[in-house]
Amino acid sequence: MKKMSLAKGSNKRMKRIALFPGSFDPITCGHTEIVQRGLAIFDEVFIGIGVNTTKTPTFPTGKKVQWISEIFQGEARVKVGIFSGLTVNFALSIEATFILRGLRAAPDFEYEKNIELLNKHLAPNIDTVYLVSSSTTGHISSSLVREVLRFNGNLKGLVPDIILQEISQQKI
Ligand code: ADP
Repeated sequence: MKKMSLAKGSNKRMKRIALFPGSFDPITCGHTEIVQRGLAIFDEVFIGIGVNTTKTPTFPTGKKVQWISEIFQGEARVKVGIFSGLTVNFALSIEATFILRGLRAAPDFEYEKNIELLNKHLAPNIDTVYLVSSSTTGHISSSLVREVLRFNGNLKGLVPDIILQEISQQKI
C-alpha cells in the first residue's frame, strides 16, 4: 500500500493543498461547485486568480477577490490570491501539490491535456486533478454569464447570490 507522505521531522501528514487557477471573470456557480467538491478531497483549496497582462478582465481583480472572499468567508480551508506568470510557479510558492481544474465537456479536456503535460514537465511533483461538472452546472461559463449580464438577463443560479445582489443594487 502507498505510504502517506509525512512532513519532515514529524509524524504529521503533509497538508494537501490544491491550487484552483482561473480567470474567474466572474466566479460562477460552476466554479463554486468545483471548490466545494474539492474540499472533500483536499485540506485546502486555494483559488488563484490569474492576471494576464495582455488581457483586460471585465471585472477588476480586486472585485473578484472581494466576491470570492465573501462567498467562502465561512470556510477557512478556502483561500484566495492573485498571481501572474506560470501557474506551476505559483502552485510551488503556496506549497500546493495539486492543481484542481473543472471539466465541462470534451473541448475542456482537449485544452487541459496539453497544459497538464506542460505543467508536469515543469513541475513533476504537481499533479492535476479534474472534477467533471454536474448536470446542474455543466452549461455555465464566465463568458456566458458576461453575455447574459450585458443583455440584462436573469443570472439566478448562474452566479453566487452575493454577485446577484450587487447586480440588483446596480453596484456593478
Ligand atoms: P480559465 O480562464 O483558465 O479557462 P476559468 O476561470 O474560466 O479559467 O475557469 C477555471 C476552471 O474552472 C477551469 O478548469 C474551468 O474548466 C473550470 N470551470 C469553469 N466553469 C465550470 C463549470 N461550469 N463546471 C466545472 N468547471 C468549470
